[in-house]
Parts: sequence; C-alpha cells; structure tokens
Amino acid sequence: MEKKVIIIGAGPAGLTAGIYTSRGGIKTLLIEKFMPGGNMLMTEKIENYPGFPEGIGGIELAELMKKQVLNSGGEIIQGEVKDVNIGDEKEVILKNGERLKTPALIIASGSSRKKLGVEGEEKLKGKGVSYCAACDGPFFRDKTIAVVGGGDSALEEAIYLTRFASKIYLIHRREEFRASKFLQEKIKEYPKIQPVLSSIVEKIEGENKVESIIVKNIKTGEEERIKVNGVFISIGQKPNVEFLNGKLKADPSGYLIVNENMETSEKGVFACGDVIRKTLYQVITACGEGAIAGWSVEKYLSSL
Ligand SMILES: Cc1cc2nc3c(=O)[nH]c(=O)nc-3n(C[C@H](O)[C@H](O)[C@H](O)COP(=O)(O)OP(=O)(O)OC[C@H]3O[C@@H](n4cnc5c(N)ncnc54)[C@H](O)[C@@H]3O)c2cc1C
Repeated sequence: MEKKVIIIGAGPAGLTAGIYTSRGGIKTLLIEKFMPGGNMLMTEKIENYPGFPEGIGGIELAELMKKQVLNSGGEIIQGEVKDVNIGDEKEVILKNGERLKTPALIIASGSSRKKLGVEGEEKLKGKGVSYCAACDGPFFRDKTIAVVGGGDSALEEAIYLTRFASKIYLIHRREEFRASKFLQEKIKEYPKIQPVLSSIVEKIEGENKVESIIVKNIKTGEEERIKVNGVFISIGQKPNVEFLNGKLKADPSGYLIVNENMETSEKGVFACGDVIRKTLYQVITACGEGAIAGWSVEKYLSSL
C-alpha cells in the first residue's frame, strides 16, 4: 500500500504534522478551506513562540511554516472537507463533491470564534461585527467600538485596537475579567478602554452597518443603548468538528479525545492542535502535537 496521509487543516498543527510526514517519506496532502496559517493569521504579532526574541508576525510565521511543508515535499490544496468515512481505508469528501481515499488521516481543523448569538449579529457580520481584531482593526480608525469578552484574547484585542479606535467599551458578563492579572493591570494604562463589567450585549443594531448596541447590566437589570461603529466578539473558541458528524470520540464541548500519541478513537485517525481536548491552546503546543501526530502516522503506516 502506498504510504500516504491526508491532513485536514493547515494551521500550525497541520503544517507541522505535514513537515514530519513528508520528511518521513509519506505522500502528504494537506486540505485547507481558507489559507495556510489558521488562527496565526488572526494574530498581529506572536511573542511567545521560541526563536523570535522580538516576536514575529502571525502571517509571516504562517508563510514560513507553509514554505517548510512545500520544501519537504508536502502538497497543500484549497478545499473544504464536508464529511469523512472511516474504515480500514478512510475517505475524505470535499464540498465540491471530490472524494479522496487515504490509509491515514490527521484532523488538524483547529477552532473558531464562538458567536454571541444575539439579534443583529449575523445580519451585521462584516458590516461592523467582527471576530478578528488583527484583520479588521484598521477599518475603525477614530471610531467608537465595543469589544465583548473578558479573557486574554479579548483584553489583548482591546489593547491592539487602541491604535485605531478613539474609544473602546470592553464588555464582560462577570464582575472581574478572566484574563491574566498582567493584562488586567495593563489595560489600565489605556485610557481609551472603558471596562463595562457585569454586563451583556443583548442586541446589535443598525441597518447596513453597526450603529449601536443594547447592553444590559445583569446585576441591576438596567438596559442602555451605546452608540458604536463596530463590535469585536472575543468570547472563546469552539472546535471545528462539524464535518466529522460525531464519528470520533469527543468531550461534551466537541473537543476530540486523543492519547499521548495523538491517536483518536478510530484506528489510523490522528488529531492535533486546537481541535483536541487539552490544557494549553497555543501555537507552540499545536506544533508539538502536530509533530507527534506526524510521527505516529509514520509508525502506523509502517505497521500495516
Ligand atoms: C486572536 C488570537 C490570538 C492568538 N494569539 C496567540 C499568540 O500570541 N501565541 C500563541 O501561541 N497562540 C495564539 N493564539 C492561539 C493559536 O493561534 C492557536 O492555538 C493555533 O493557531 C492552533 O493551531 P491549529 O493548527 O490547531 O488550528 P488553527 O490555527 O485553528 O488551524 C486550523 C485550520 O483548519 C482549517 N479548517 C477547519 N475546518 C476545515 C475543513 N472542514 N476543511 C478544511 N480546512 C479546515 C481552518 O481554516 C484553519 O486554517 C491566538 C488565537 C487567536 C484566535
């Protein structure tokens, strides 16, 4: 049997797995629905990936990893995986109807931003509602915006957006931000950021673009209309597993369960990166797990 592997997703996990499998002499095909890089493309600067003491742009790091896959002999195609069939041979079905067969499969489909699920969000997506500060920040020069969320990403994004926006309401449902103490202290250095705590966004208003939001204080029940030009939603991630249709064992939130070799509940199917259940969701851990998944595929294919 030809030694080959299909990797679904070309974020840092999939790209690293691809470097390992192609260097291991395995015919490697990565399928990516958007662009190689995954969530690194949403990060203006990555400051905690070793080897870059001054930090490195997310897009730049993505480009370097992509080049390394191609230089190692891997192939990357654009396509969205819609379904998979898992047996001794695995079948990957793309949105365009194409069907690809492989003895080994790596799921590296990562995670996406959670939606707020409020009225106006879907209608005004791309018209002031954004899930990516690094992508859309420059559109909000001298504008008033809201950032919704209280974790590290939300606070980092609020700080980043001070470069463009004139005022930022940082809205969080709890009394205190969930972000690290370091970031909680740091936002105090930015007078443009106004925390709005114990509050939720109930509605996003506007005809063709965001004009205002209705914010409710959950302690007092009071509602307020705040005029804003944009809303950045940063309330966490969810794993991209829809295309698996429950065929692999996952935790209640959908994160895939793997062992230390990145093996999933099905033989010959491996998973790595933000799509798996783990404790630290970062580029460095995604790469580490990608390397293990690639190495495990090599061992698996040799055992057949
Ligand atoms: C705003 C933001 C800032 C961050 N900042 C940092 C930071 O400073 N340092 C750090 O270490 N980490 C940071 N992270 C986290 C880091 O980006 C992730 O942990 C990492 O990208 C996970 O890699 P991954 O390859 O598992 O998944 P992803 O990067 O999510 O890549 C998965 C890829 O799979 C593709 N895909 C999904 N479904 C399909 C499908 N059905 N068919 C085909 N392709 C599919 C996606 O398009 C995507 O390209 C940040 C994340 C965000 C959102």
